[in-house]
Amino acid sequence: MSILIKNILLNNERTDVYIEKNSFTQIEKNIEKEADTVIDGSHRAILPSFHNLHTHSSMTLMRGYADDMALHTWLNDYIWPFEAKLKDVDIYNGARLACVEMIKSGTTMCADMYVGTEQVVKAFSEMGIRAFVGATFFDFFDEKKAEEMKKKMEAEYEANKEVDEKIAIMPAPHAVYTVSEESLRWLAEFSEKNNTLVNIHLSETQKENDDCVAKYGVRPVELLDRVGLLNERLLVAHAVHLNDDEIALLAERGVIVAHCPASNMKLASGGFRYDAMAKAGVKFSIATDGVCSDNNVDMMGEMKLAALRAKEMYADATVAPAADVFARATSLPAEYLGLNTGKIEVGAKADFILVNLDDVAMVPNTNLISNMVYSATPKVIDYTVCDGKILMAEGVVEGEKEIIAALRDSMQRLGA
Ligand SMILES: [Zn+2]
Repeated sequence: MSILIKNILLNNERTDVYIEKNSFTQIEKNIEKEADTVIDGSHRAILPSFHNLHTHSSMTLMRGYADDMALHTWLNDYIWPFEAKLKDVDIYNGARLACVEMIKSGTTMCADMYVGTEQVVKAFSEMGIRAFVGATFFDFFDEKKAEEMKKKMEAEYEANKEVDEKIAIMPAPHAVYTVSEESLRWLAEFSEKNNTLVNIHLSETQKENDDCVAKYGVRPVELLDRVGLLNERLLVAHAVHLNDDEIALLAERGVIVAHCPASNMKLASGGFRYDAMAKAGVKFSIATDGVCSDNNVDMMGEMKLAALRAKEMYADATVAPAADVFARATSLPAEYLGLNTGKIEVGAKADFILVNLDDVAMVPNTNLISNMVYSATPKVIDYTVCDGKILMAEGVVEGEKEIIAALRDSMQRLGA
């Protein structure tokens, strides 16, 4: 497969871009070459696609299901009882719907955390999305359950690790309040042995920190350190309630952080210390979290919230400038994860979006990145490409109607 994009705007200049198989192979003016697909770029710009480092894809099933309540009520009384009813097909349908939404909003890579690893992997693979799929681990401090989960974790990892070269499997202990210290230690060893990431929710609420201190005598960051998880293979979501020492430690250990502003604001979890994290050199990115706490997987909306929330919190309009926020949604997460994506250059994997510069939200094009962060919505995206494969052309994602119908079938059967 080859794609030739003619006369596209890249870094404020018009050029042609040639993609062969899954990579950019030529970027220069007037490329005269045959291609399987030729795209007119004359009213468009090319940009790296979004990398969403924290979501729970199948939770599209719970969009609008449990809004306007505190995190722990939300989880205990609504989410977990609903999830107990889910069958494999529902998890698969939910993940596919999330893929459609991601593709339509320019996301080609996500770090997911959910149950039903096989179903999620199948959905991502069919839809052509790049992913780190988190196999969720809960033991609720029950030794028997912990032993069952370890066996399940190993089996899920072995069965899914080589299904698709764009998809890696990572253990995902839910949080320090749902997974025992002994299991966290086991997962740290698993990660070292298999060289996998580990994904966990960290210091999302003050209650999580307080309960951790009451149970263990230390805060969550210190607990993760003492079990051997605090290193460059750790991907944490939220990291809202951190003190200066913890921020410095995360930077020093190379821990990757996914900042989820919509979720933090909606669940009133607290304010992410954007400026402190950036100044300390923490590797943090922007992410959406699941659809039950966001309520979409649109990275463009997330960028705007990240920027505005940080400015408001610090009472400083210079904090979280558009270029920094955009990089934290595209190139930086790719770099943190060692992916050869998030950049439009020869040799890089062809993961990108084409945006319509004739859309009102993009006019005038005084500052493209500023328009993308503050003005535009996903409807400005005409094309989404991952690994050289066109996932959306002229705003159309193949199979969208069937995927929506399948999700509705799931909802009917779930009685929701
Ligand atoms: Zn989450």
